[in-house]
Amino acid sequence: MKTGKNKRTMKNKQKSIWVFGDYRNYYQNRVTLQLISKAVDLARVVDAEVCAVVFGHNVEEWIMEYTAHGADRVLAIDHPSLTSYSTENYLALIEKLARQRDPDIILIGATDFGREFAPRLAKRLKTGLSADCVGLDIAPEGLLVQIAPSFGGHMLAEIVTEKHRPQMATVRPGTFKEIPHNYERTAIVERLSLPANLPASRVRVVEYERAAQKGHTIENAMVIVCGGRGMGNKNNFKKLNELARLLNGDVGATRPVVYAGWADHDALVGQAGKHIKPKILFSFGISGAIQHTAGLGEANFIVAINKNPQATMMKIADVAIAADASDLLNNLIKELKKRIRE
Ligand SMILES: Cc1cc2nc3c(=O)[nH]c(=O)nc-3n(C[C@H](O)[C@H](O)[C@H](O)COP(=O)(O)OP(=O)(O)OC[C@H]3O[C@@H](n4cnc5c(N)ncnc54)[C@H](O)[C@@H]3O)c2cc1C
Repeated sequence: MKTGKNKRTMKNKQKSIWVFGDYRNYYQNRVTLQLISKAVDLARVVDAEVCAVVFGHNVEEWIMEYTAHGADRVLAIDHPSLTSYSTENYLALIEKLARQRDPDIILIGATDFGREFAPRLAKRLKTGLSADCVGLDIAPEGLLVQIAPSFGGHMLAEIVTEKHRPQMATVRPGTFKEIPHNYERTAIVERLSLPANLPASRVRVVEYERAAQKGHTIENAMVIVCGGRGMGNKNNFKKLNELARLLNGDVGATRPVVYAGWADHDALVGQAGKHIKPKILFSFGISGAIQHTAGLGEANFIVAINKNPQATMMKIADVAIAADASDLLNNLIKELKKRIRE
């Protein structure tokens, strides 16, 4: 891992796309890396640099990771007083930096922290914010297109911030794929000192305790078996676990299924749940409502099973099988078990 001058030529006012570095629970929560990866794509279009902003204590590891995953520049403030994530302190720091450096775009993961942090930052910088985006693009005139569910999730709105800067968005974890690391990459690393006049935080963190893991990490699963209302009942739905186990995958669910108590909320896929990116997705008895498919953007190959060949899910699938979902599931499990035994 090297740090040093990047080959990118700097202009008088180089455009910069900032990604806020949220490294908590790093090995599960990859949203910062996913945003850096998307920022690299966007930066190519608008000729900008990608800048990761990282605050904390002992942040060298994250500087290295963000560089390896695509950042051209890293702005780092490393100080013991920044050990715990603090909305007040982190806001004050990033606001000050943004005022000094005038980034064109700031992207923040729509984590619990990001959802609290980003709107406050937007307010302080007197700019707009699109929350919980499920896509980002660049319009022909160079503006950031922030694609976000709207009107109760019935439509996807394309939002641009014409007059104010920076253009800001929070993005759901799992929306984009991270770029594989390359520890040969270099970045300009600026290690900045903690400003002296930081406002005293009104919050004192006494202790951190990690919440118990509930088992589902469907955002990172390579095979997902997803079930909807067409599974008919809880017992039929439970059999999806067996298929997932045989395929070394995980189980996802639609909202009615979660509401019915057939699956827990961690399995929810879609606008109100997880964004998934499996290599193969099996979709059993799912109609394909936009709020559900909003979470499938990165699925590589979709096999849909539905008794209605006209269902939207059947139309967007790579392979569509018109059949009873439970019958097909049972047959598939039987056949796979037979092959494993052979
Ligand atoms: C603000 C908002 C946010 C939402 N967020 C989400 C979200 O994050 N995720 C989500 O999933 N939904 C979400 N929804 C709900 C979404 O609009 C749909 O209602 C939901 O996705 C439908 O789930 P489903 O496909 O399981 O059920 P249905 O739409 O009822 O579809 C059932 C399907 O099963 C098929 N079927 C029936 N019987 C069989 C059988 N025996 N064999 C095979 N196929 C069969 C039917 O033909 C049908 O296509 C949200 C809604 C709102 C308003």
